[in-house]
Amino acid sequence: MKPRTAAAVTAGKAAAVVSRALGRGGGTALPGLVAERIDPQIVAHLGQQLVRGRVLVTGTNGKTTTSRILARILQEAGTPYLHNREGSNLMRGIASALLAAASPGGRLPHGRETLGLFETDEATLPHAARALQPGAIAFTNLFRDQLDRYGEVDTVASLWKEALSSTPKTATLVLNADDPSVADLATGWEGPIHWFGVDDEAFATQAAGATDARWCGSCGGTFAYTRRYFAHIGHWRCPGCGRERPEPQTSASAITLGLESASFEITGLGRVTLPLTGMYNVYNALAAVSLAKVLFLPAAAAVAGLASVQPAFGRQEVVELQGHKLRIMLCKNPAGANQVIRLLQAVDPGDGLHVAALLNDRFADGQDVSWTWDVDYELLRGRIAGCHVGGDRAEDMALRLKYAGWPAPRTVARTPGELLDSILANTPPGADVFVVPTYTAMLDLRRELARRGAASTFWR
Ligand SMILES: [Zn+2]
Repeated sequence: MKPRTAAAVTAGKAAAVVSRALGRGGGTALPGLVAERIDPQIVAHLGQQLVRGRVLVTGTNGKTTTSRILARILQEAGTPYLHNREGSNLMRGIASALLAAASPGGRLPHGRETLGLFETDEATLPHAARALQPGAIAFTNLFRDQLDRYGEVDTVASLWKEALSSTPKTATLVLNADDPSVADLATGWEGPIHWFGVDDEAFATQAAGATDARWCGSCGGTFAYTRRYFAHIGHWRCPGCGRERPEPQTSASAITLGLESASFEITGLGRVTLPLTGMYNVYNALAAVSLAKVLFLPAAAAVAGLASVQPAFGRQEVVELQGHKLRIMLCKNPAGANQVIRLLQAVDPGDGLHVAALLNDRFADGQDVSWTWDVDYELLRGRIAGCHVGGDRAEDMALRLKYAGWPAPRTVARTPGELLDSILANTPPGADVFVVPTYTAMLDLRRELARRGAASTFWR
């Protein structure tokens, strides 16, 4: 161990102690940040001690859930693993996770038998791939996220290509065959690829949805679809050069979506049940199972892992409040929000939906709220029994929903307290309320719910 690395570990661990003592959000970033200042190669130096290998999970949507599902499968398989916590998917977060497991001298005591599982921010991937030299990388999808954060999807696509140039050629790419932008990563990749995708005609849609219009990476042609599931995801083909959706090794079919769970057939596993719902979670399960196959984990562990996964914070969380179930479904970008809208359409009990839409425009939400105009709120026209609007940009949300043909909101509330009061006053006893917040609006709401004793705080 180089003296510099040892000093970085000591300082990082000290920062973790201080951060915990101050009760600063679980201390997920600070230790890594401090250690990186002293040894910029800290992630490489600690990560290479994970002899069982390193696995990265990236993509616009689904990173957290895919990682959580794989973590459950690893637990079922009895494989020790090290995992960065949600929201810590930059280099400093990965460094913090490694520091937490390291001895004061900079050794990972169980490094030899431990697998590294790292949820990785899209733009961080080149750094993470270079430092961690992964044995597998899963790419879930590529959507337009927060415009003012990364700019064009093309920027992310080229960052990913750059990452692959420093990834070992023995690494397996786990790619979403249904996303042509992700599939394009196969072009020029000489190592192994494991494809996943959905084969279920019943979920094809005619509505184009919030398409992140895509052009073929090889010839610039516009994709044609024999089956489109949502946005640009489906069975695609380029009429220009003939490139088309690859046949997946792992696919989902005969999908049934319920309010709190999904069940489907999956290649090699038979029929599985997932305590998460929505088409996007079917894709997350496929990515996780594909990684499990690449890691040679037993099929029984995959089935048991899928069956026992818990929803991540703010994603399909259910909070009980005075006889109502608040079903919180994070909407952080048009693609994610459209999935939630389609899910609500599918689970509409018939007597109308009670929905609270929360819009913030802070840094983590994306400061440009024009993305709400790419969300198909129109699909729920005529199905809304009660509407509540909240967040820093509540008025913008109210305007958007007015154009979508929703009934006038019972409240347009800037604070979560006012919003909850309106929900409690205007929702019939026992009725479920679907809460669709942006990221920081979800945090604000969660804090208010905790204050009212309705939910425990996240940072344990
Ligand atoms: Zn083409």
